[in-house]
Amino acid sequence: MKKLSKKLLKVAKKILKNKEFKDIIDIFERDYDTRKCFRCNGKGTIDSILNDGKDNAICPICNGNQVFKKPNIEEVIASITCAQGKHTGGIREAYAASNDPGYYVWRYTKYYLGIDHFKPVLADVYFGFHPYQEHLNLLAKACSQYFRP
Ligand SMILES: [Zn+2]
Repeated sequence: MKKLSKKLLKVAKKILKNKEFKDIIDIFERDYDTRKCFRCNGKGTIDSILNDGKDNAICPICNGNQVFKKPNIEEVIASITCAQGKHTGGIREAYAASNDPGYYVWRYTKYYLGIDHFKPVLADVYFGFHPYQEHLNLLAKACSQYFRP
């Protein structure tokens, strides 16, 4: 994830004070700080018949890390928020496809807002086995309420 400015993190903190985010903040706060990767079930390796005859391959989802850290909700909001110009504090216009939690939330927020009409298939591919996907999806729903014009 790219470095976020102090200014943007301050904006995110302010955005999160709005009522739309109350429930999702509770959900994030109550949850575990890490969760097991859904693809390898926390082993870090997967059985693969396509792995040059070796029994185990590094899990391509968690890269062998076994767990995912709970996304930082403030950083996610900062990463999808526009930092300058007349849309400051609104949702960003562009976000390069990646496995950042911010990308997933940004894509789904735009989908829920009706700006994008197609289901974010690529984001679903990146996050299909991500143990916090449901959390991020709920966050995107809250964002779509907040960013609604
Ligand atoms: Zn894994």
